[in-house]
Amino acid sequence: MKVVRTMGELETAPGTGLVPTMGALHEGHRALFRAARAESERVVASLFVNPAQFDEQADLEAYPRDEEHDLQLARAEGVDVVFAPPPEEMYPAGFATWVDPQETGAEGTARPGHFRGVATVCLKLFNLVRPERAYFGQKDGQQVAVLRRLVRDLNVPVEIRVVPTVRDPDGLALSSRNGRLSAEERQRALGLPRALASAAREPNPVAAARASLNGLDPDYVEVLDLGDAKLLAAAIRVGSTRLIDNVLLEGEIQ
Ligand code: AMP
Repeated sequence: MKVVRTMGELETAPGTGLVPTMGALHEGHRALFRAARAESERVVASLFVNPAQFDEQADLEAYPRDEEHDLQLARAEGVDVVFAPPPEEMYPAGFATWVDPQETGAEGTARPGHFRGVATVCLKLFNLVRPERAYFGQKDGQQVAVLRRLVRDLNVPVEIRVVPTVRDPDGLALSSRNGRLSAEERQRALGLPRALASAAREPNPVAAARASLNGLDPDYVEVLDLGDAKLLAAAIRVGSTRLIDNVLLEGEIQ
């Protein structure tokens, strides 16, 4: 496995699958690597904590980093190339061009500038790696909607693939931020997947989720439309940690 830190060292090749990540890899990322490995001749993963997509400085500073562990996991899953640039490689002095998706609602409203950062870094990665397919998790369902629209609107020749959310056995969606939860906070956080799962079966899922999230004070509870599927999504704050999750309401994510 090759570890590359500069854009100039990146090579392109047909049949490449790209898995963009912010590191602190877990079983959710592993599922993305496996999906990519299963249908790609070459798998490129990026490890980049993208400062541009953080709307809170404290969240960026507290974001977990463990490159040694990440490289081990990527190597074990047969990743061919890891691209792990420092921030100044992606955003050098004079950087001034942004992709600004017109995305309102849910994360788009709760985290101003977040999708601008996501869209900009993903378009850079698509241009640098030229993958045939890029893999993203359903866990960040709105991100998938934003990126699908980006490739359509800007005619980017990449297929967006979506991998189902990987959860702990008790239902909590795996997230790099889960490590910040105390045992008591983690217990409270379980209210999120439970509320979403039970509300998805109700006639008014948003109201039902709000009612059962009672006490967890959600940033939002919304239905996200991905075109081929509708998701019931919510964000909560547990202590200083913000968690998001969603479940399928109807359709199927292709
Ligand atoms: P992150 O490193 O958190 O930015 O995530 C990188 C990619 O992994 C994104 O496409 C996420 O949607 C995906 N991902 C994160 N957590 C999970 C999970 N629990 N299951 C599936 N995919 C995930």
